[in-house]
Amino acid sequence: APPRLYGPHRDNSAGVDLSQKGVRDMLADAQMRFDKAMPYACGPILSGKVKAGEAREQASPADTARIVSTVTEADAGMVDAAFTAAHKAFDAWDREGGPARAAILRKLADALETDTERFMAILSREAGKTLNDGVAEVREAVDFLRYYAAEAETKFGHADRLPGPAGETNHLELRGRGVFACISPWNFPLAIFVGQVAAALAAGNTVVAKPAEQTPLVAFEAVRLFQKAGLPKDVVQLVPGDGKVGALMTGHPLLAGVAFTGSTEVARIINRTLAQRDGAILPLIAETGGLNAMFVDTSALKEQVVDDAVISAFGSAGQRCSALRLIFLPRETADQTIEALKGAMDALTLGEPADPATDVGPVIDTEALDMLNAHAERMAREATILHRAPLGDELKAKGHYFAPLMVELASLDGMDREVFGPILHVIRYKRSDLPKLAAQLAGKGYGLTLGVHSRLQRFLDSVREAVPAGNTYVNRNMIGAVVGVQPFGGEGLSGTGPKAGGPHYLYRFAAERTVTVNI
Ligand code: GLU
Repeated sequence: APPRLYGPHRDNSAGVDLSQKGVRDMLADAQMRFDKAMPYACGPILSGKVKAGEAREQASPADTARIVSTVTEADAGMVDAAFTAAHKAFDAWDREGGPARAAILRKLADALETDTERFMAILSREAGKTLNDGVAEVREAVDFLRYYAAEAETKFGHADRLPGPAGETNHLELRGRGVFACISPWNFPLAIFVGQVAAALAAGNTVVAKPAEQTPLVAFEAVRLFQKAGLPKDVVQLVPGDGKVGALMTGHPLLAGVAFTGSTEVARIINRTLAQRDGAILPLIAETGGLNAMFVDTSALKEQVVDDAVISAFGSAGQRCSALRLIFLPRETADQTIEALKGAMDALTLGEPADPATDVGPVIDTEALDMLNAHAERMAREATILHRAPLGDELKAKGHYFAPLMVELASLDGMDREVFGPILHVIRYKRSDLPKLAAQLAGKGYGLTLGVHSRLQRFLDSVREAVPAGNTYVNRNMIGAVVGVQPFGGEGLSGTGPKAGGPHYLYRFAAERTVTVNI
C-alpha cells in the first residue's frame, strides 16, 4: 500500500539562515537591544493581567553575574484564580470549533515567527541556547502551532458519520475535556511550552501553564505576545513557580488533564497524585527521559558515526531527552572511532551562547553542574575516562560550563539512569555479546531514541527488534525531531505517548462522543 499521509500538506517554518552575515548582524543587534533592558520583570498572567509581587532574581546560566529576570511566583490563591477563570472560559472555547481555534493558533504562529530574533535573544540569555539551538527552537514552536492548528481544523468542530443499520444514524465527534495543566521543562522552554499549550487549546481545552522555574521569562513573553496577537485572555493562564505550584495544579478540583515533560520521577509523582484524587479519572500525557543508545557495526562509515555521535551527545550541552548517552562500538574498529571522537571533541568550541562560533553552551544551573561533576567523579573511580573537551578557566568561572566528557564502561551494570548533560559512555562489544547487551539495555525499561549506524539491513533489524524505542534514527544523528516529520516521544520509563508533533497527539487531549439517533 502507498504510505499514508496524515492531514493536509503543511510546510515547516523556514527559520533564519545563520550562514548569512546580514542575519547574524541582525541577531547580534537584537541581542544587544534585549540585553540593554535586562533584567525583565515577569510573573503570573491571570486573564491577561500581570501580577506583580515579591520577586526573586533569575541569573543567566552562561554568566551568573547577569540577572535576566525578576520573577514573581504564583501563590495558592493565584493558582486557584487561574483555574476558576480557565474553567469559566472552557465552554465557549470548546464550542468555537476546530477551524475557529485553528485560525487563532495560526495568528500566534505568525506573530512568533515575526519575532524570531527577540525570542532567540531571550533563549540565549535565559536558557544558554546557542544560535543554532535558538533558531531550531523558535521554528519548532511555530511548527507546533501550525501543526496542531491543521489538526484542529480537520478533526474538531464537526461529527464524522459512521455506518449503522437502516433507520439509525451514528456520529463521532471530538471535544475538549476542560482545564489542562501544562507543565513544561527548561531544556525547550519555548518549543515544549508552546507545543503543550497549543495542543491543549487546539483540542478545545483551556490551559493553566507552569513553565520550569529556571526559564519563566520566555514563557511569559510568549503568552504576552499571543494575547496581543488575538488569543482570548482567559483561555491561557500562566502560573510560574517550582514544584509546589505544580502540586497545587495537579491537586486542583477543576483540573481535567495534565501534559508534562520532565523527569521520570516527577511524572510518577504526578501519576500518583492523579490516581489518588476523588472524582473524574484524568489523563496524563508525560514525556520523560531516556537511556538513549547508538549501535555501530563494522560496516558503518567512521566519519559519519563521529559527526552524528558528537552532535547527538554534546549538542545543546547534552540537555535533550533525545540526546545520545551510550555508544556501542565493535571492538574491531573501536580504537579508530574513539581516536576520531577525541579529535572532534577537541574541535568543539564552548562559549558564550550568542556567539556564532559557539558549539556548546552552559548547562542550566548549579544543581545540573553538581550532578554532572559527581557523575564524572564516579566515572573516574568506576570506569575509564577517555577524553575531555577543552574548557578555559575564565568560562568556568563565568557560568555553569561543563566540558564534554567521554568515558568507557566495562559493562552496563550500574548504568540505570539518564545522566542529563554532555557525557558520552562508550561500550566496546564483541559481536557474539551483542544480543545479550541489547537485551540488558532494553531491560532498563527506557524507550526514547535509538541510533543505528550500519550498512547491513540484518544488523539494523536485529537492533531494532531488541531495543524498543519511540524514535529510531538510522545512519544519522538522533536529535531534533521535526514536527509532523518525526513525531516524537517514548515508551516505558520514557513516557506515555502519544507523540508530540504527530497525528495522534490531540486525541489524548480530547473527549470522544458518539451520538446514535433512531430516526
Ligand atoms: N524533541 C527533542 C529532540 O528531538 C527533544 C525534546 C526534549 O528534550 O524533551 O531532540
